[in-house]
Amino acid sequence: MYQKVHLRLTVLCSGITAVIMIVMSLCYLYVSETGLYGNHFHSFQNHMNTITANLEQQSVISMEWLSKMEAQGNYTFFVLDNGISFLYNQVSQETDSSRKKLLEESLAAYGSKITASGTADGRKVSPYVSYHTEFPFTSPSTGEGFYSSVIHIEKNSSLLQVIILSSLRPLKEQIFHQRIRFLLIDLGAVAVLSLFSWAFTGRLLRPILENQQKQVQFVAAASHELRTPLAVILSCVECCQGGQGQGKFLKIIKQESLRMSSLVNDMLLLSGSDNHRFPISKEPVELDTLLMNTCESFESMAREKSLSLSIGLPENILPPCSCDPGRIQQVVSILLHNAISYTREGGKINLSLSYQKTSLEKGNFSISVKDNGIGISNEDKKKIFDRFYRAERSRTAKGHFGLGLSIAWEIVATHQGSISVKDSETGGSLFTVTLPQ
Ligand code: ADP
Repeated sequence: MYQKVHLRLTVLCSGITAVIMIVMSLCYLYVSETGLYGNHFHSFQNHMNTITANLEQQSVISMEWLSKMEAQGNYTFFVLDNGISFLYNQVSQETDSSRKKLLEESLAAYGSKITASGTADGRKVSPYVSYHTEFPFTSPSTGEGFYSSVIHIEKNSSLLQVIILSSLRPLKEQIFHQRIRFLLIDLGAVAVLSLFSWAFTGRLLRPILENQQKQVQFVAAASHELRTPLAVILSCVECCQGGQGQGKFLKIIKQESLRMSSLVNDMLLLSGSDNHRFPISKEPVELDTLLMNTCESFESMAREKSLSLSIGLPENILPPCSCDPGRIQQVVSILLHNAISYTREGGKINLSLSYQKTSLEKGNFSISVKDNGIGISNEDKKKIFDRFYRAERSRTAKGHFGLGLSIAWEIVATHQGSISVKDSETGGSLFTVTLPQ
């Protein structure tokens, strides 16, 4: 499922970018090729002006000059003297049929270009003794493209016609190479884009994947935690049906039902925080009084385990803290309950409160719970705030589902505070909750 979405997003991202890039390349190629053809035709026309001027000045057209001109511009020359093919064509080049055909085709193209009143594009044929006309034409027999120029020079009542053909093959090859270069660049860019999109969408999807994995783990852990009390309840019900020791089994059923109910409440609370439906109602609270009351409620539990539970409060009067008293009491209860659970008999637990000013009117409260219990390994310290996480050493503790610290973390985060843990100097753990005033 994840792979499918990842692949689809990659194809979509790189596809859209590739299409935009290809359209841009095509536009560029169109503009560049039109420019190349235009420039080529323009320089051909300029060259024809020069050649016409040269021809006008020469009384005799030498073969040397003709072959030099042909080589210079990579042209093909046909010279007609009063409509008769000039000797140059027959001696210097093999007058094969294809060459003759080319001459005929270019003359036919020229004929169709010139109308009785002027050129086909509307220009008047020059009334002067010499003029030349340039036009593009494609040989119907070979399909090869040319720029063609027909030069007319009237001298001493004789008409000299020079037809000059410039093949477009080199230009077309240049354009073809340019297209190949663009194709390779586009292909390379599409490959790089695809890799980038793969990595980018992977990054984008990672939180969703992590969230999905967390949810799966949450459901699996919750089902696992509910299975044990349910199994106990079922076996007790069976015993009750047998008719023996009903009172004892009903007591166990009640205990296990309460355990399940507390677990379900915790899960509902966490799911509410995931959906941003975690209700807190802030009010000015005297934290020292709140801590004293909470500590008192754990005194009997501590006494049962022969633990000494002490509280340390600042002597001066503290400003009120804007928080939800019920929720903060819940956090302190979680920390105290853990400290009592994970400290061996005879151990010491200390709850303390301090206040640090951060500005003239504001400050931070720190609530600390310190014990000298079993402690938490560095490896476990990174995971204890995860849902359903329980360190191996504490798996046997009854009534602990591994949700307490994740609930505490959510509550503190909703108050824009923080919670941290480190080893206490007495060998146990020291949890510190910081709350903004
Ligand atoms: P639990 O309900 O299991 O206590 P918590 O989320 O409150 O779940 O705590 C997660 C784990 O962190 C506990 O299972 C325990 O391993 C460890 N832990 C929490 N508090 C203490 C403590 N004061 N001393 C040692 N280990 C602790």
